[in-house]
Amino acid sequence: MNGALTFVGTASALVEPGRFHTSFLVETREGTLLVEAGDGAARALNRQGRAPNEIDAIAISHHHADHSGGLTALVNQMSMADRATPLSVYTHEEDVGAVHDSLRRSYMLEESLGFEIEVVGFRHDALVRVFDGLSFTPRRSSHLDRYLRATDEPHGDISYHAASFRFALGDRNVVYTGDVASREDLLLFADAPIDAMICEAAHVGAADIIATLAEARPGRLLLVHWSLADRREVLGRLLDENVPAVEFAADGQTIFL
Ligand SMILES: [Zn+2]
Ligand SMILES: [Zn+2]
Repeated sequence: MNGALTFVGTASALVEPGRFHTSFLVETREGTLLVEAGDGAARALNRQGRAPNEIDAIAISHHHADHSGGLTALVNQMSMADRATPLSVYTHEEDVGAVHDSLRRSYMLEESLGFEIEVVGFRHDALVRVFDGLSFTPRRSSHLDRYLRATDEPHGDISYHAASFRFALGDRNVVYTGDVASREDLLLFADAPIDAMICEAAHVGAADIIATLAEARPGRLLLVHWSLADRREVLGRLLDENVPAVEFAADGQTIFL
């Protein structure tokens, strides 16, 4: 076995009873990476019986509140639990300054935290090595392009990068779509074999999911970032089309790779 993946949350941006925004842990022998730290991330981990200081590194796909709005509160919990080991936070290189700034403005100052935070900027299509046996490649999705289309003058200091990730756990590939805007975004990593695909279900429809199964041919397709209404709609269509190989991931679920 190369590692395990545990869903800390599977909900969309909508707050729903008893569920948390989409995030998951990628665990290998070398360490634990949390992917996404949206609003309520510290509580979501707590719900799953996981301590904040089990996490060695955090990767954030983009900065909507359901993906990064809980980062500061989670770092605060790490500090209150007497963390001494360094923490790495991966974000797009154009967002490194903003992440530093939001931590500093919440008084998460390195000199008083008691541990070191390294905010590491990634570039699309460039491999990031997290630990021995775990690396990831980010690729740009068009999820945030609507903000660019909505204005002639992009707000200078705001980055509009949303990433999808391909994780390599040893010889196993896991694709996480992050948030997307089109069917094309679901196929960003269709150029290589995919053992498991974690696909968001809020910004795409059942037809896009069925097409992804046919084109990307993942060994396993798990849906995340779904609201109860999304689930009803998508499930109805999957049943109509008799599609067998799709799973709705649930908060707390673990898969082994
Ligand atoms: Zn989202
Ligand atoms: Zn988003």
